[in-house]
Amino acid sequence: MSGPAIARDSCRQMTAADPSRLLHALRRAEPLLWVRPDACADAGAPAPVTAAQVEQARLRTARFAPLLAELFPELRASGGAIESPLLRADAMQQALGLPAACGRLWIKADHQLPVAGSIKARGGIHEVLEFAESLALREGLLDAGDDYRKLGGAAARACLARYQVAVGSTGNLGLSIGVMASALGLRAAVHMSADAKPWKKARLRARGVRVIEHAGDYEQAVAAGRDQLRADPRGHFVDDERSASLFVGYAAAAWHLRTQLDAEGIRVDAEHPLFVYLPCGVGGAPGGIAYGLRQIFGPHVHCFFAEPTQSPCFLARMMAGCGQLPPLAGPPSVYDLGLRNQTEADGLAVPRASELAYAAVGAWLDGVYTVADERLFADLARLHDSEGLRIEPSAAAGFCGPAHLCGSETGRAWLRARGLSGRLARATHLAWTTGGLYVPDDEYAGFLRRGRQAAATP
Ligand SMILES: *Cc1c(COP(=O)(O)O)cnc(C)c1O
Repeated sequence: MSGPAIARDSCRQMTAADPSRLLHALRRAEPLLWVRPDACADAGAPAPVTAAQVEQARLRTARFAPLLAELFPELRASGGAIESPLLRADAMQQALGLPAACGRLWIKADHQLPVAGSIKARGGIHEVLEFAESLALREGLLDAGDDYRKLGGAAARACLARYQVAVGSTGNLGLSIGVMASALGLRAAVHMSADAKPWKKARLRARGVRVIEHAGDYEQAVAAGRDQLRADPRGHFVDDERSASLFVGYAAAAWHLRTQLDAEGIRVDAEHPLFVYLPCGVGGAPGGIAYGLRQIFGPHVHCFFAEPTQSPCFLARMMAGCGQLPPLAGPPSVYDLGLRNQTEADGLAVPRASELAYAAVGAWLDGVYTVADERLFADLARLHDSEGLRIEPSAAAGFCGPAHLCGSETGRAWLRARGLSGRLARATHLAWTTGGLYVPDDEYAGFLRRGRQAAATP
């Protein structure tokens, strides 16, 4: 079977069924698609969260909604819900040169999530709410069944101000945690890595959040934050690498997506497969969402993580789990592969995957692919020029997915082996756009210039 034709420039890809060739390409930072080998279902550990915890996260968010609608004018219309639209993307599909025979492209527009401006609005905000709720119950600020708007009062805020939330971040997680914590009256400290963008630091400082800058990478910023808070009995550290609260906050997104798919009349079953492409940093956001989708759609949803060619930490973790990397002392980092973890996709610039996310999805995740930075910029520009949507570079990583599947040897062989080739025309491809709402205009203009240039260069 030859599969649908894909425009030549739509995605660079390679044929690499052979693990040693794949490893070679990975080390050379070439864009590639990895699919789980049939023989490999190494979970590492039992799933670290339960469906009941995800349900609790959904209920908690609903309890806080009336308070959030008061604290954030931008949430008034939604009654305090922080959600994003599901968008049809015919013009982008055309811009990408994706034939209808491959299926239909949609976008889950988390780049429009209010308050945080990125997918971190899901996990990060949930964890701050969970901490605030536990404090409020412990301090007697709330009784079970109370209207949470009570927490907006002066007495409650004065009490919460005695507590501190801290986090280590490349930027977006810090934004979501810092903005929500300060809105609730909690003190907040954000430890930023060297690659965090200056505008993200400025936005936090403008809200009274303490920003501590570190010379090192994301892992070092997290470690510094963790250490500093150990001494504070009234502190809570949001641990991006290990937090179940973040994870279930992300997972809850899947239930809302199901109602959106229903409303659009999009079926997901054996005859109508759903392919979801999720930009991946440490793995918590894509892992949580994939976990939720799997709970709902079982084997009919196929999740792929997307990473920069310089920061393929989840791919490295998957390959190590499948015995495809040379043995190492611990979980692999991208530095072990000789890569530098340097990418303009600051939301994805993470050297080592979350073991919690790996434990949750490692056993069944369908695949991971990598994208070169120039390709991220090119797709950012294509999305602007075709659909009028404004995203940040990290958020563009999902758009390479359908071409990898339908247009590469590896992808087509994988589809054939799973009996999916004949169902592609009825398939839905969902690119998850993960951030961008608050990118300053001048910064975005630079992205767009670079992207148009990249898109014009074969
Ligand atoms: C954080 C982030 C991701 C990925 O989330 P992880 O939990 O780090 O895997 C993707 N896109 C953007 C824009 C982000 O900020």
